[in-house]
Amino acid sequence: TDQPTTRDGFAEPFLLEVLASGGLDAAYVRAEGNTLYRRGEDGEEIAVLDFVGGYGSLMLGHNNPEINDRARELLDRQTPVHAQFSRHPYADELAAELNRIVQRERGDDESYYAIFANSGAEAVEAAMKHAELDRGLRLSALTEEIDAHLEEVRARVADGTATVPPRVAGSADELIADVRRRNEEQLARGPLFLTPEGAFHGKLAGSVQLTHNPGYRLPFKSLAAQARFVPRDQPGALRKIVDEERPHLLDLVVEGGRVQVVERDHPLFTAFVLEPVQGEGGIHELSAEFVAEVQEVCAEARIPVVVDEIQSGMGRTGSFLAATRLGLKGDYYTLAKSLGGGIAKSAVLLVRKPLYHGQFELAHSSTFAKDAFSCLIGLKVLEIMEADDGAVYRRAAERGERLLGMLRSVRADFPETVRDVRGRGLMLGLEFRDQSDATADPLRQVARSGFFGYFVAGHILREHRVRVFPTSSAVNTLRFEPSVYVTDEEIDRLEAALRDVCAIIRDTDGARLAPI
Ligand code: PMP
Repeated sequence: TDQPTTRDGFAEPFLLEVLASGGLDAAYVRAEGNTLYRRGEDGEEIAVLDFVGGYGSLMLGHNNPEINDRARELLDRQTPVHAQFSRHPYADELAAELNRIVQRERGDDESYYAIFANSGAEAVEAAMKHAELDRGLRLSALTEEIDAHLEEVRARVADGTATVPPRVAGSADELIADVRRRNEEQLARGPLFLTPEGAFHGKLAGSVQLTHNPGYRLPFKSLAAQARFVPRDQPGALRKIVDEERPHLLDLVVEGGRVQVVERDHPLFTAFVLEPVQGEGGIHELSAEFVAEVQEVCAEARIPVVVDEIQSGMGRTGSFLAATRLGLKGDYYTLAKSLGGGIAKSAVLLVRKPLYHGQFELAHSSTFAKDAFSCLIGLKVLEIMEADDGAVYRRAAERGERLLGMLRSVRADFPETVRDVRGRGLMLGLEFRDQSDATADPLRQVARSGFFGYFVAGHILREHRVRVFPTSSAVNTLRFEPSVYVTDEEIDRLEAALRDVCAIIRDTDGARLAPI
């Protein structure tokens, strides 16, 4: 049964039990930079070094003093936070600044309109909805055109200026009825999304369909349009899926007085949604080959590309967008997490101007989105990141190299324990070898529990006072996403913790990983 007990209270007690079983149920009372504090038994503060970084929302650290000063100032000035349906100059300013940065990184002058949202998943759903609105409008235009052609054929056959060749159909009416029936069958097919295997795009009813992890997705499969998951390492796989699924609508044309049946492309795919560096799927940067195939196939089939930068963006990989390095260009971009500076809940969808439909602004909105507080904090975040000619991005790249160097040295010394280290900038992962066939009981049990990385995290927290977590869909991979201010000394502390845990796995068959 998954019925929780009320022993631990009413706020998600099941999750708390899971955390407790891995020794991860600490209560934190204060946070600063890369440090969280909990209370010891005598009421003293115990520092815990945080490499989780709010799952990517703390590029600028916990309680960044500049951001907190700005927040205090906004409250002291009685800034109107909820003034919906009025002018929003701060939202405009934030969107303009995002345009400037995105244009600089793309090296072109494409403009983007901004739709604000409250969470990453909501921004993804806004992209899904906007792309579906666009697909629907294109499809209506196409079906209206086909209808007009069918009526034209009917009229021309009636007035004798066109004939239906006997091998095509018995009569014009039969042919037209046949075409309509075929088209209706095709149009009944729901829209489809495309996304890479391993993708994570959120857990709301729509976005969860694009989240590969079956545990998150399958119970809610019936709630919304489905995705086809594309292997990331099989050249040609995307083209094959698109060709196999791509249906046609039938249309009639008159050539030389004879009615002909022709096929028209049916826009079945709403969008291709992808993370430049997959986060929750285990920290995988897309390859240049895969990106090139996505761009090529999507351009040919007119499938818009949604670049989900919710975790990889905001400077995390050493540039504002992770897509920049990969040469990946989107029709849509989503941003969230560090846009809120660690204190606001904020997300944004950027839509390339030629694709944009103004009516979407009424079709999608929220009480809380585009509020003054989160927009002005977002502007402050961008100001900090852009200062000194992008010192934050350079620092993310440099600190990332330092951290990656350390992880590589651990892998080199524990090749039987560590399978891989990878990532870019301050979005790094360390993958342990799968231990589910280990001969030793404790190790095998921990591995087979499905919570391997959480047991490792529990040990590291208890023994080293360092907070790490696995990626949510690949639990053998620990993720490291500290703030840009991470120090050499903090990296050394993580190194000691990782070396300890690797030695335990190698030398004691994991006996000390299980909670005390
Ligand atoms: N997309 C990506 C790439 C993410 O990493 C996440 C969160 N981990 C989301 C979407 C969902 O964001 P949120 O948790 O704010 O809904």
